[in-house]
Amino acid sequence: MSKIDLNIPDLGNKFIDIRDTIPGDSFNWSWVRLLSGVKYLAIHHSASPDTQTPDEIANYHIKNNGWGGIGYHFLIGKDGTVYYVGDISTARANVANLNEQVIGICLIGNFTSGRIPTSEQLDSCHKLCYFFINNYPDLSNLISFDSVLGHKDLPGQSTICPGDSWPSWRVAITQRSNPLPLDRAAQIIQVYKAVLGRDPDIGGLQTYINGPMSVDQIIISMVNSKEHSDLIALAKESTSLRSQVDSLQTSLASVNQQLITLSENLQEREKEISDLKATILQSNQANIAPHTDTTLTIIGALSNLYTFIFPPQKAE
Ligand SMILES: [Zn+2]
Repeated sequence: MSKIDLNIPDLGNKFIDIRDTIPGDSFNWSWVRLLSGVKYLAIHHSASPDTQTPDEIANYHIKNNGWGGIGYHFLIGKDGTVYYVGDISTARANVANLNEQVIGICLIGNFTSGRIPTSEQLDSCHKLCYFFINNYPDLSNLISFDSVLGHKDLPGQSTICPGDSWPSWRVAITQRSNPLPLDRAAQIIQVYKAVLGRDPDIGGLQTYINGPMSVDQIIISMVNSKEHSDLIALAKESTSLRSQVDSLQTSLASVNQQLITLSENLQEREKEISDLKATILQSNQANIAPHTDTTLTIIGALSNLYTFIFPPQKAE
């Protein structure tokens, strides 16, 4: 058993040691190693919803993979909380054939299709890496941010972990001392959403993050882009289409109402006709010639009916 406690002042109360309570063996599995053999800080994503908990990840590794404990050393939640889950003196299971040489840090979430970690996650990850590189002499082979690699960047790995957006946020972990990355990246992502209504593509985001334009200049450039004007044109078109549909629906309702009225009137006329027929029948039975008035009444009623059904064309 090996138990290395850590004190990382930069992380404050965002550092939580749950090695004692998380499911599985955090102190022996899968074997104890020398810290001087650690060469890389391997960054992973959980490729799962960002609401997944440390216990859920540990249980998955234990039950589905048949492991003795969680595969990582650290997890970082979306609020930036760093969970210490596997003792750094143990080689765990997160990078094929290189577990002896890595400290595995997993950011909870799925960072594909333009999604990137929260700024809190990136900030905490930077602070954790900074601590190991600069303030932890026993890790004698971890001496620069060049040691911070995505899982897929390590030798011999066939994985997309930590997601296809990794190149765009690696800089936020490794170059934090340079005032740029974090806030600027977050601001640019917001500008994308506000002006273009979408997440940034990786290439575009990286170009803006590393480019010389101020955020204000980026906003102006996006507002003047063809993509933005196409979006506005589309929005206008959809408004006009919607008002056309509304007006058609109103017309349809009015036509329906007219049809109902028409049908009611027709029923009334039919009743009148059938009453008249009955009167004629009675007259015939009484062997009396139909009274002129009755005939005139029938003609009048029919004429009214046809006028109603086929109203005279109005002169425009
Ligand atoms: Zn990974």
